[in-house]
Amino acid sequence: MTLSAEMHEKSRKFIPGGVNSPVRAFRSVGTSPIYIRSGKGSRIYDIDGNEYIDFVSSWGPLILGHAHPEVVDAVKKAAEHGTSFGAPTELELELAMKIVSMVPGIEKVRLVNSGTEATMSAVRLARGATGRDKIIKFEGCYHGHADSFLIKAGSGAATFGIPSSPGVPASLASDTLNAAYNDLDSVRQLFENNPRTIACIIVEPVAGNMGVVPPEKGFLEGLRKLADEFSALLIFDEVITGFRLALGGAQQVFNVIPDLTTLGKIIGGGLPVGAYGGRADLMDRMAPEGPIYQAGTLSGNPLAVSAGLATLGILERENPYSKLESLSEKLFTGMEKEAKELGFDIQVKWISSLGCGFFTSTPIRNWSDVSTCDTKLFAEFHQRMLKRGIYLAPSQFEASFISAAHTEDDINRALDAFQDSLRDIRSSKA
Ligand code: PMP
Repeated sequence: MTLSAEMHEKSRKFIPGGVNSPVRAFRSVGTSPIYIRSGKGSRIYDIDGNEYIDFVSSWGPLILGHAHPEVVDAVKKAAEHGTSFGAPTELELELAMKIVSMVPGIEKVRLVNSGTEATMSAVRLARGATGRDKIIKFEGCYHGHADSFLIKAGSGAATFGIPSSPGVPASLASDTLNAAYNDLDSVRQLFENNPRTIACIIVEPVAGNMGVVPPEKGFLEGLRKLADEFSALLIFDEVITGFRLALGGAQQVFNVIPDLTTLGKIIGGGLPVGAYGGRADLMDRMAPEGPIYQAGTLSGNPLAVSAGLATLGILERENPYSKLESLSEKLFTGMEKEAKELGFDIQVKWISSLGCGFFTSTPIRNWSDVSTCDTKLFAEFHQRMLKRGIYLAPSQFEASFISAAHTEDDINRALDAFQDSLRDIRSSKA
């Protein structure tokens, strides 16, 4: 038994499922998790002494790789001055100004501690500002684990087949309407069937929690128009895409400006941060300026904000986006070519530094297509990649993330492992 497996046995006695977030348990890929000892650059090291090239990147935040020296330094320096005050600091203003200057749709921003808090607060704001209760989200999108979102949700909820969680009151669930991603007609229909009751559309501008599903041409523009036509607000959940697709996020790349934006992951540089922001007139509805309540003991925490500031500063200075894109192109087009040559049905979707290979022959544009994937095949593939030192998200329904710390050599090694893993699978079936 490995040390990781032993540790997991022990953890299960004290922590539900042994993990503090369900997908970490590796259940859907038929194994148990490896326990990480440390990370540096593109690599992570487990407690058994194995080294892996990491394509999870802590599920997105680590666009600069693990333990970037400037980020680590910033956190150390901040800690020396005190870890939390529950009172305003200059650092928070600095991060807010940076976010406002970079993200086109954000005029004012409020910092919170996670992506879930950000989306939950943005939807409360949309409901409070419009006086309406219903929201439209998309099947297979994930916006964190607040009650209103756990209805046909993606990510871990999809992985474990519990997309609609017990514990969510039926009355609340009935206020969440699900449309199909990349299908504007399904959105229009919901608006027409629910006149003057829909507060907002919340959408991942690139869906990253059912694998990776980019928006088709016109989809985001169409959402903007529908929201305006029916006097609802448009929320872009950029918890994944913010600062990953570009400094201004997906809204900059696709040139569609939402009323509100939620952020997380990269803005915390690997520490817990989230944010929601948007039009100043809307943000001023929040307490203490307005009547809609939201608060947080650790919001704007100096350590987390320092890590975020350092990360955004490096992204601004080094602008790694074209390098990230060329590494991505090499990895994802290489995967597609190799899989096809070996006779596997695969659909590869990627944009900027995130992507996914779907084991299916069905072209991918939304959740009903994604749900045709061969998850057993993915599980076998995942195990074989892990044995070859490639650490991928343990679910068919998650993205792979490339960081600026990845090298051409890392990508070549991942492609070799990919080819060898598929060859093994093919010969084991022969
Ligand atoms: N929105 C999106 C698009 C996400 O991908 C996630 C998490 N993966 C969240 C919200 C929730 O963020 P957190 O896990 O920090 O609560």
